[in-house]
Amino acid sequence: MSELNPFKIAQAQFDEAAERLGLDDGMREFLRWPMREYKVTLPVRMDDGKFKIFHGYRVQYNSSRGPTKGGLRWHPDETIDTVRALAAWMTWKTAVVDIPLGGGKGGITCNPKELSAGEQERLARGYMRAVARLLGVTKDVPAPDVYTNPQIMAWMMDEYETIVMESHPGVITGKPLTLGGSQGRGDATARGGVICVREAGKILNIDWDNATYAVQGFGNAGQFGATIHKELLGNSKFVAASDSRGGIYCAAGMDPHEVVKYKLEKGTLQGYPGTEPISNAELLELEVDVLYPSALENAITDENAARVKAKMLCELANGPTTPEADEILYDKGVVILPDFMANAGGVTVSYFEQVQNSYNYYWPLKLVRERLDEKMTDAFHAVWKMAESEKVHMRLAAYLVSVQRVAQASRDRGWV
Ligand code: NAD
Repeated sequence: MSELNPFKIAQAQFDEAAERLGLDDGMREFLRWPMREYKVTLPVRMDDGKFKIFHGYRVQYNSSRGPTKGGLRWHPDETIDTVRALAAWMTWKTAVVDIPLGGGKGGITCNPKELSAGEQERLARGYMRAVARLLGVTKDVPAPDVYTNPQIMAWMMDEYETIVMESHPGVITGKPLTLGGSQGRGDATARGGVICVREAGKILNIDWDNATYAVQGFGNAGQFGATIHKELLGNSKFVAASDSRGGIYCAAGMDPHEVVKYKLEKGTLQGYPGTEPISNAELLELEVDVLYPSALENAITDENAARVKAKMLCELANGPTTPEADEILYDKGVVILPDFMANAGGVTVSYFEQVQNSYNYYWPLKLVRERLDEKMTDAFHAVWKMAESEKVHMRLAAYLVSVQRVAQASRDRGWV
């Protein structure tokens, strides 16, 4: 696709689903745009005593199914259009897993790697002061995203509670366990993806004892993807992994826990015993049963899609496959478990966190995992059924399921 503006891509993906669903013009135009968006200007006193001005955003894309929900991204390239796109995808994500929430997203244009802890705290608290009036458990609930973390969530929650002078842990999710975070939130994204793989494997009759898998992008999502695949799908062989510096390959299979330990200790995968080096491009083209793209956007494009030999792609990353690549892979018979379904486990457990905060009673890990499993399994089968009946690829099927749900809620409210 020549247009790389993420919001334009999100609108184009939506348009295709709206066309197929035969939505009327009013509904189409309504769902193509965020319902509310806010821009805030944030002065922060830096460690050198001078003020620096940051620009922040909060977009509440659609609240027909419930209060909006979505992460806060701190990134130098953050723009209103990135936030709009991510807020749209959150709307479809909460709908596909059928949790009673809408979609939102926020961000601050900044480079957190250049900020001291004190500067980060003042920025987090300043952002919360600027948007507190927009947030709340019945309005809009942020969470971590790229370059934000439980500590930043904790500062923001504390600032919000200071402003409203009440306890409101559910105003933000992804908090530390000490402040009302949920058990099982850390690995929920990857666990949700592997549950989708497991369900697809039942339909496709994959013999996991003789299967192989590879992980592109060995960060947070990818590392948990590797270990949870082993936990849930037994004797599959973990044959390759990569990070930004390159990859490693071992036909006989590696122990994912040992590889994670190595990566955390050494900061790299290179030199892991018993493996040979492999490039990122080669990893994407390996003949494996499951490939987990878990790095960044646009990893699989019209340039390399024809050479992808994986039987299944489980997109733990957001946007790793371009629309042109989708078509090529579909024609080749590759099953794609699309990002906003495959990585929806994170927001699902964030929702569980809100629920637990609301009744101030906390679930054991086992219960969180059972409920996550139920949500992801249902989402997978709803999308699979749609793909079969409409004869479309899984990404479009996921859009059809979600857009239908959001449109129906908007209609039921009498909005459009
Ligand atoms: P992360 O920064 O922890 O990990 C990213 C990894 O990708 C790093 O190891 C990096 O070295 C590697 N990488 C970068 N460029 C690469 C390349 N060209 N080839 C191979 N590896 C490369 O980030 P994360 O939290 O794991 O997020 C990864 C993706 O998953 C993002 O798209 C994110 O939006 C998505 N995601 C993550 C979560 C979550 O809970 N962590 C939830 C939903 C979606």
